Amino acid sequence: MIQKQKRQLFRLNLPLISFLIVLHIISLFYIFKKSFIFPVAIYVLALILFFFAYQKNKRERNLLEIKKQDLREKINLLQESIRKEKVLTPSLDKRNYRYTLLKQALDRFNQSLVLSDVGAAIAEETFILFGGSGNVLIYLINHENNNPEILFTKKLNLELIIKEKYGDLFNEWVIKHNQPLLIEDTSKDFRFDFQRIKEEVSRPIGSLIITPIITSDRFIGILRIESEEMNKFSSDDLRFLSTISNLAGIAIENSLLYGDAEELAIKDGLTGLYLRRFLDERGKEELQYAFKQNSEISVLMIDIDHFKKYNDNFGHRAGDIVLMHIADLLKGIFHDPVYTLSRFGGEEFLVLLPNTKKSKALKLAENLRKGIEEGVIILRRSPVKITVSIGVAAYPSDADSWVDLIKQSDTAMYKAKQEGRNRVCSLRSA
Ligand code: GH3
Ligand code: MG
Ligand code: MG
Repeated sequence: MIQKQKRQLFRLNLPLISFLIVLHIISLFYIFKKSFIFPVAIYVLALILFFFAYQKNKRERNLLEIKKQDLREKINLLQESIRKEKVLTPSLDKRNYRYTLLKQALDRFNQSLVLSDVGAAIAEETFILFGGSGNVLIYLINHENNNPEILFTKKLNLELIIKEKYGDLFNEWVIKHNQPLLIEDTSKDFRFDFQRIKEEVSRPIGSLIITPIITSDRFIGILRIESEEMNKFSSDDLRFLSTISNLAGIAIENSLLYGDAEELAIKDGLTGLYLRRFLDERGKEELQYAFKQNSEISVLMIDIDHFKKYNDNFGHRAGDIVLMHIADLLKGIFHDPVYTLSRFGGEEFLVLLPNTKKSKALKLAENLRKGIEEGVIILRRSPVKITVSIGVAAYPSDADSWVDLIKQSDTAMYKAKQEGRNRVCSLRSA
């Protein structure tokens, strides 16, 4: 374009140049005839014309220079925007790719309602979404003591041992501030004392991102990804982790609700002990296991003595209090999670003791009987004593099936009633 303008300028000056050439030829003619006045006048005129033409040319040249600079500036701006786009395109591609994978992850989060499966899905999918760039940890808040506890981890190095099962100072910060956390370099972050990090965190952490898992305004957990390397995560990564933890929160909440509902279906509302249906399932499973392992199983059938009289004398509500009292004693004595405690019927309880010999079961039953006999319960401001009769039976010495085992323990319990109540009986000696 500048070249074109230069050519235009030359074309404009062409008549002037031609005119000067003609004047010059005429002057030469006069000089030849020895007449000098006319050529001098001509040359003066030519000089004046030349001067004006030069000035005009100069102005136009300046204008051209300004235009040239403008264009150069535009070229620079265009080049800059092309460079930016080149940087931006891969990061947009990365984002697009991530959000496509997110849909797949979300489907997996909601495939199961079992909390441990949901935890595994969240940890594994987060690991994939971040291209295996670090260890993923999920913590759930224990609402009894407000501490985070590890639900699931997906580690880059399977041999890594995470000693801090209840989190560390980084988790503390997130819980305290109720905010996501990005640390690009743990040795340089002014919010954390590096010395304290070295003392308190057993594994090397160079950088990390953490987001709270919040559902219905409740802080239910923490989602975290950490790397041994520094500057592994950006603020874009933190935003992406927040999106994941929002989706994870919904899946976790659903599984917790399902767990509550499931618990309600298998547990007695009054005592919190398992119902008969669940006990039968567990009992059959345990019997199969004992058969394979060649081990023993014992059961205690517990029936409250003269329970009717508590109802009759103090009212139905008092009867319920007695039932809750016995259930609490059972939970205290048989606290090992391998034992199954159930409310078998109205005022009858059954305790399933896997891998327990009859001799040990008889001792445990006697402890329970004594504990109940020695305790005092207040019903309508009166101290009341309670006793129970307990029947003990064992597999394989008394029975070879679950149904028979229950029957034998029931018969043993009736034997205890017949022999005067407040005692432990079994049909055969241990
Ligand atoms: P025994 O020493 O022979 O076992 O006498 P008992 O009175 O305990 O036996 P019985 O089977 O005659 O009475 C059981 C009573 O338990 C009858 C019923 O009213 C009461 N019962 C059953 N379930 C409940 C319950 O959930 N709450 C209350 N308060 N009472 C219940
Ligand atoms: Mg009864
Ligand atoms: Mg009874």
